[in-house]
Amino acid sequence: TASVAAVPAVAAPATAVAPFSPVSLATRDLHLSLGGNPVLRGVDLDVPRGDTLCVIGPSGSGKSTLLRTVNRLLEPDRGDVLLDGGSVLQRDPNLLRQQVGMVFQQFNLFPHLSVLRNLTLPLRRLRGLSREEADETALRQLDLVGLRHKAQTRPGRLSGGQQQRVAIARALVMAPQVMLFDEATSALDPELVKGVLGLMAELGRAGMTMVVVTHEMGFAREVADRVAFMDHGVVVESGSPQALFDDPRSPRLRQFLTDVL
Ligand code: ADP
Ligand code: MG
Repeated sequence: TASVAAVPAVAAPATAVAPFSPVSLATRDLHLSLGGNPVLRGVDLDVPRGDTLCVIGPSGSGKSTLLRTVNRLLEPDRGDVLLDGGSVLQRDPNLLRQQVGMVFQQFNLFPHLSVLRNLTLPLRRLRGLSREEADETALRQLDLVGLRHKAQTRPGRLSGGQQQRVAIARALVMAPQVMLFDEATSALDPELVKGVLGLMAELGRAGMTMVVVTHEMGFAREVADRVAFMDHGVVVESGSPQALFDDPRSPRLRQFLTDVL
């Protein structure tokens, strides 16, 4: 992490990602109520530059709401989100969503567009690249995730695992500084999970700053620098994977681990 911080762009060796410049991410006392429900009740997180934080916790604990608040798909009632120490709440949301890439459980690809056009659309609309520049950038990114041969295919003709890798490529092609994953493998058939987790792990190893909401406890244990356990809108416990999985402190985390493992 220290060496990553020292250089402006990380040219990751033999990897699925193009050069990028990760930043640190923090949340401070985030509060948000939805429909009268207090969903986030004071969430503080610190993800150093280049680290992977895995967020675990029961359904309804506020994990998706937290990620959506980080990239301002939702606005907090109180608190702040910081990138490299600077508040994002005053920034242009469209610019922010280029800096903070997000991958969803349901891929959210445009079904009527080819794989290539799914990647070039944000490059042209948000970055203002020419058709030629956008095509070149997108094809290079598809190459990196091993899907260049699917460039002209529509998403619906791909496997779920391939669709999710396209969704990840679409986020990465914007050269984000942080990546958020919301249960990116939960909708996949079991045999397709590994390829997507492998790409995510590679991205983490290459030095991306990532927040990964996941039910894959094996991934959290292997890949996360830190793990945070959420329940009822707060981080109940956080620490190294070893600390959380091998020596859970709170009764709620113990119960959760008993239920999922
Ligand atoms: P998780 O991702 O951990 O399963 P969510 O962030 O999706 O949890 O949801 C947390 C809680 O917020 C749930 O109890 C859910 O019912 C509630 N919630 C989410 N969206 C809304 C909404 N638009 N209006 C009211 N309640 C909501
Ligand atoms: Mg969720």
